[in-house]
Amino acid sequence: MNNDKQEHIKDKDLDADKDARIMRQGRKLFVREFDKQIQQLQLLLTTIQSSPISDDVQQFYRIVHTVKGSAPIFGYQRIGKLAEELVRAWEWTQSIAKGSETALLAVTPLEESAAYSQDVLRQMNMEYDICVTELHMDEQQSPSGGSLLGTLKSRLLLVDDDEVLRSYLTRRLQLDDCVVDEAADVESAVKLLREHTYDLVTLDLMMHPQSGYELFEFLKEDPTLKWLPLIVLSGRNDLHDKVRCFHLGADDYVTKPFQYEELAARIYGLLKRTKNFEQLAFRDPLTGVFNRRYFDLQIGLELQRIERYPAPISLVFIDIDRFKRINDGFGHHVGDLVLQGLAHLLQVNLRATDLLARFGGEEFVIALPNTTAAQAMRIVQHILDKARQNPVAQYEGKPFFVTFSAGVAEWQAGQSVAEWISKADDGMYQAKQQGRNRVVGTQDDISTTPSSNGASSADKKKRLLIVDDDSILRAILTSQLEHLPITITHASNGEEAYRLLEESSYDACILDGMMPKVDGFHLLEKLKKNPSMAQGDMKILMLSAKKKEDDLVRGFQMGADDYMTKPFSLVELEIRVKRLMKLA
Ligand code: GH3
Ligand code: MG
Ligand code: MG
Repeated sequence: MNNDKQEHIKDKDLDADKDARIMRQGRKLFVREFDKQIQQLQLLLTTIQSSPISDDVQQFYRIVHTVKGSAPIFGYQRIGKLAEELVRAWEWTQSIAKGSETALLAVTPLEESAAYSQDVLRQMNMEYDICVTELHMDEQQSPSGGSLLGTLKSRLLLVDDDEVLRSYLTRRLQLDDCVVDEAADVESAVKLLREHTYDLVTLDLMMHPQSGYELFEFLKEDPTLKWLPLIVLSGRNDLHDKVRCFHLGADDYVTKPFQYEELAARIYGLLKRTKNFEQLAFRDPLTGVFNRRYFDLQIGLELQRIERYPAPISLVFIDIDRFKRINDGFGHHVGDLVLQGLAHLLQVNLRATDLLARFGGEEFVIALPNTTAAQAMRIVQHILDKARQNPVAQYEGKPFFVTFSAGVAEWQAGQSVAEWISKADDGMYQAKQQGRNRVVGTQDDISTTPSSNGASSADKKKRLLIVDDDSILRAILTSQLEHLPITITHASNGEEAYRLLEESSYDACILDGMMPKVDGFHLLEKLKKNPSMAQGDMKILMLSAKKKEDDLVRGFQMGADDYMTKPFSLVELEIRVKRLMKLA
């Protein structure tokens, strides 16, 4: 477009509009006519090839001459060029006098011109196809014409030595909003595949010097390209070829000639499925819930939405209580079953709009849109109640129960996602501190009172560990001390107690001196040797079955704070525990 014309457009928008309309109208008429012309040319060519008559040849010549003149007027330069080639191919017939059929039978030039024309007509057909698509899209006024393929915005590599087909496909695919690269042989394809990331490759089999099969070899050996979606475009409709390609990993096999629409539909289907696989990359394989990567992506979008349409949104951070014990006690497999069971319990008790993700090992996060912190706490509390009542997993007939500790934080304007998660995480940590098995809110505007377990105040409950191999005695001690404002944990031997003490700290410990394997004294020794366990503040009340003078001395020497012999009075024990734990 020259400068004058540009000025003209600027000054007279209305005129320009009108021009464009007229041009569009003209193009439409041309394309409609061109369609008829191609059909006529095809018909004429077929008759010329079987029984050449001068009239047919003259008509053929007239038509291509017309096209040569009209196509460029409407901006179809390529079609003009193709018509020009046909004019040139049949130029020689113009010197033959009308009606002199014998001259036409100069077989060689006629056969050559006809064969060449077949090829050019094929290209004209492709050009026609593109014109129609462009006009169609023009009318819809949308750049992608709303095609399905256009919605995927993909990058494709076409590997084919047929330049005409390649450039046709490229232009059609570009109209469908694809980014397209072309390779005429295997070597340049390999180069492009190393340089760029493609969503899909179409591959011709018959190429020189290397065949398409050799590209398969290359793709198979590269782990990053192994799963690249691939459609074979082949002129060979041969069962053996097809089977071989599928064995080599082709996803589809399309024989030439094909309709563009069909190929586009196949490409679309394949890309769509691949995107579904990508979805799998967003799922945690063990539990099937979303993974952290997906959560991070999604939560950003969720907050963007809230900025536009303000609404409350809350985040829950969940950590399974004493999960290590399940793994240690029953094996990793049971641990996995429990993780799956809890994920399922969470999922089925949430709304479709809630976003549940596995955050790490035994940690889950939930984003609850349109939910205040108080509402979120109720929802999570309800799920925790269910977990307490029903086993989340069964293994070899044995039911497995778990509880969890949860922190809830409602999003505050201006807060970053990281700050928000860390708030909910703080809540979870507080829940652990307060004895686990509870839900704690963290927002300033709501009470941080734990809403479970009958715990009555926000202040931290003291923790007592009872270590005794006698389960009846453990139960009796527990029922005697249960009413105190403390959290009681059990261990049935020294090893188990050691593990618990490794994991967290306790305010006091009732320790049986006589136990199989690691007894109470042994445990005290181990604790002493491992200062990193820092149980220095823990008060120890030793229990012994016999009144043995040296046991008592040994116990005190090893750090026990108090000593009782069995049988003892439960009331006395309670008094001693209260004193040791400084309870009123
Ligand atoms: P707390 O109540 O303090 O959270 O105690 P806990 O035992 O749950 O916490 P801790 O962080 O000490 O232990 C978490 C364990 O979770 C440790 C790890 O072996 C286990 N774990 C993490 N991922 C998996 C998994 O995918 N499968 C199984 N079976 N265990 C896992
Ligand atoms: Mg954890
Ligand atoms: Mg845990």
